[in-house]
Amino acid sequence: MTAETTSNDWLLSEDQQKALLEFLEDFKNTVSVHLFVKTGENDAYADFSRKLVKDLARLNDKIIVEEHTDDVQAQEKYQVERFPTLLIAPDMYSIRFTGAPAGEEGQAFLFGLLMASTGNSHLTAESKKILEDLHEKRNVKVFVSPTCPYCPGQTINAIKAAIEKPDLVSMECIESGEHGQYADTYSVGSVPHTVYHETLNTVGLESEQSFVRQLVALKPIRELEPQQPDAQDQKTVHYDLVIIGAGPAGLTAGIYARRAGLTTVILEKSIIGGQVSVTPEVENYPGFVNIGGKMLMDMVYEQAKQYVDVLTGQNVQEVKVGKNLEVITENQVYACQAVIYAAGADRRKLGVPGEERFMSKGVSFCASCDGYMFKDKKVAVVGGGNTALTDALHLHNLGVEVVLIHRRDSFRAEQHLVDSINREGIAVRWNSAVEEIGGDEVLEFVLVRDVVSGQTEKVKVDGVFMAVGMIPNVEAVASLGLAQEPGGYLHVDRQGRTSIPRVYAAGDITGGVQQIVTAVSEGASAAMAVFEDLTRHKTASGK
Ligand code: NAP
Repeated sequence: MTAETTSNDWLLSEDQQKALLEFLEDFKNTVSVHLFVKTGENDAYADFSRKLVKDLARLNDKIIVEEHTDDVQAQEKYQVERFPTLLIAPDMYSIRFTGAPAGEEGQAFLFGLLMASTGNSHLTAESKKILEDLHEKRNVKVFVSPTCPYCPGQTINAIKAAIEKPDLVSMECIESGEHGQYADTYSVGSVPHTVYHETLNTVGLESEQSFVRQLVALKPIRELEPQQPDAQDQKTVHYDLVIIGAGPAGLTAGIYARRAGLTTVILEKSIIGGQVSVTPEVENYPGFVNIGGKMLMDMVYEQAKQYVDVLTGQNVQEVKVGKNLEVITENQVYACQAVIYAAGADRRKLGVPGEERFMSKGVSFCASCDGYMFKDKKVAVVGGGNTALTDALHLHNLGVEVVLIHRRDSFRAEQHLVDSINREGIAVRWNSAVEEIGGDEVLEFVLVRDVVSGQTEKVKVDGVFMAVGMIPNVEAVASLGLAQEPGGYLHVDRQGRTSIPRVYAAGDITGGVQQIVTAVSEGASAAMAVFEDLTRHKTASGK
């Protein structure tokens, strides 16, 4: 939650206050927030936290703030050792924010207040059932960073469990940048990094069900038996259209489909906004000279949700083609007339020794999420496309020393980005292939081979950001055998029709130039094709 200073001593801008007033209407009971501050420790963050909770209390008298400044007795009572710390309703729940909730995790803080006020964990019936098997105490730590769009979701998973099982589950959300040493204790290299009861460490946003299963079993989800949903719990719901993926293509398709009158739902397994939400800056989307990718997608989402339901945490396992189409998730079957597959693409791995070993311990695929942890350190960015250059500039602006390592002698990125790299004096190693990522305990170097001279050199770095292209997310439709383009992208006609009638595709999954503006356009075209085809079909069959 970034905030601008406004008049009358408010931290939150008038727009933020207005948006929050609506959210705060749903509060039910009084909820206390305890703020712990120690003079001389993280003063700026302490001040932010103080102003934030003061604003919230001014907006809603159900929020009661108690501040403990240099209060050793209260610190001992609530076992607070780091500052600032915020506790939500500590006499009922164990919900702790270590560090100011000044970034994306601010959303999780607000949801924590709401859940504590209503006592409603908002867990699904399936997740509640899984938690019934929990009979021992559990502590969960979620390490986050301010610009990580995946972090609020994982923090909210932990808060839900703490609300549902207040006697057994305690949770802590830790701002990794503010508390670097604390993060280092758990070898945090990528966020969200979750520590389940000091036993199990995971990285990334997990589905609610995976989260609670791991919390109970303290084993990684890959070691747990696949959950067979109760047939009676796996309800079927009906829509004209199911859209898979809530990136720019899926959200735009949702807007167009609903405006055309089709009953529609968008299913998203991870974050709303897709790859754009982790793109630090966008400078080529018409209408915006320069805008953060997350902010752009928040705006698209705000518009889309006025028309269409967007359900997150929906991991589509299969799409079946029969009389109706069926889209199958962990606990739901969506029967529909048409599917738009807009599941996007993920970053490709480089496939060199050391990449797996240092994955999330120095090797990262998300500069927006993990960049903060490398401030005043040195990193390599591998690749020479738009992503590599955008990431390099973002990291440079955060105060990270960057060396771009590219296998050829010229970039394949927009000239505007190339000019920025030159202007900022970011170091580039041309004609250089990364052959290994190495180090003892921690990542220490990349082994680089000059592809012209053949000579190799160890370049000392603390981290490596990969930006060597994308691979399409086709798993959920793999069994359909859709016609593909080179690289595994889905083949479509000009309006997004795949090789199977009633299955459409849009956005990065179709390959091509993979721009936000083309994803948006493909989403609109596919939705209009669905409308035309269904209308034609109904007319032809006389329905
Ligand atoms: P990309 O354009 O495919 O570029 C991948 C880069 O990685 C290339 O420079 C490539 O080198 C290099 N590479 C690939 N495999 C490699 C390997 N095994 N070892 C070393 N280097 C390797 O991918 P991207 O940058 O992720 O962009 C994907 C799409 O999204 C593009 O269409 C891009 O325009 C778009 N995008 C746009 C923006 C923007 O407009 N601001 C931002 C991000 C992405 P070569 O050049 O030698 O092939």
